[in-house]
Amino acid sequence: MPELRDCVVLHGPDLAPHRCARFAWEHDTITVLDLGAPCPALEAGARVVIPGLTNGHTHIGDSALPDGATGLTLEEAFFRPAGYKYRELARLSREEHLPHLIAHQHHMARTGTVRHLDFREQGAAGAQLLRDASAQTGVEAIILNQFNTPPFSAAELAANSASLPESARAELAAMIAVADGFSESTMNDLTDAAWREIRVATSTAGKLRAIHCLESTAYRDSSLAMSRRGDLARAIDVYDAHLIVHLTVASAEEIALLACSGKTAAANPRANATLGLPLPPIAALLRAGVNLLLGTDNGMLNAPSLLPELDFAYKLAKSQCADAVSPDPAAILKMATVNIRPLLGGDHHGRLERGLPADFAVLDFHQPHLRHTRHVVASVVTRVSPADVLATYRQGRELWRDPRWT
Ligand SMILES: [Zn+2]
Repeated sequence: MPELRDCVVLHGPDLAPHRCARFAWEHDTITVLDLGAPCPALEAGARVVIPGLTNGHTHIGDSALPDGATGLTLEEAFFRPAGYKYRELARLSREEHLPHLIAHQHHMARTGTVRHLDFREQGAAGAQLLRDASAQTGVEAIILNQFNTPPFSAAELAANSASLPESARAELAAMIAVADGFSESTMNDLTDAAWREIRVATSTAGKLRAIHCLESTAYRDSSLAMSRRGDLARAIDVYDAHLIVHLTVASAEEIALLACSGKTAAANPRANATLGLPLPPIAALLRAGVNLLLGTDNGMLNAPSLLPELDFAYKLAKSQCADAVSPDPAAILKMATVNIRPLLGGDHHGRLERGLPADFAVLDFHQPHLRHTRHVVASVVTRVSPADVLATYRQGRELWRDPRWT
């Protein structure tokens, strides 16, 4: 049975650091977690075991185009039909594209991530490509699939009455067969009748529904022009989305509406910053009690490592809270760990306890910049670099191991 001795484990739903005489797993399950005293600080280093991280929002497809959006607006880079992303992805053959997905999932594993929620473009073929990458790397992709061909013309969207054309219905069925759920760029890309159809089809198949909302004020304005309702309200009432990403420009009323709905949201502060957009109201979302995830968004904008995202999100939330005590660094780390549970359920716990899946990363807190930390969790959130990740496991399978670590 593989094991670690004399380590520190961030234990349970509170991610509380404890000494651990023995941490062992057998097959896919944690079998021994011999917990000792709480260990908020270190005197002379330790190996620190954290839950394997979940990236709450990616588009790994365009990791084939690192920094390709530099100098482009959100619309120029990412909107269909002529956005840079869609033009360039259409040029790549399957054989050219797959190695990029594999390389970036390896980068995730290398930086402590075991799973990502991917808004995969290019229809069912795009979803299958990501499935094939995951089969090689062991990094779990929760695939939220998007139409390859936009089903409606601008005039049909403005009228907001058409139902899905037959061709789109067939594409939806093909996507549901291979993916874990459905996603679209914005609520303004489909009619309300189409959203209702998709809601029924995904519910029947037991699949997830996800959407981008309020990334910029244009999302809300276009939705109001189309249906007299904002995009967040439609995402909740018409589409009944499980996961809503961005909320960059959410108002106090919209944050209250989201909190009341009980939906999970994902913030992507570095991607928003890179595009010159406002930063997401992480402090207000946390204060309102929204179950919040953290994502790196497009591979084109960010390498898919959560380590710098945790650091950025923590400091952003600190600045927004404007006091010395809020938020607790553990609240930020929960965005990449335990907060996945309400959305996915099943084997997805995001925490470490005996009997739960062996999904974890081992961090080298013997490094000079970590070994004397006065606050283990704050240092996990703000100081760990990729070189400090010794190993990453998902369900007991080694996804990454530093050759220096035996
Ligand atoms: Zn996105």
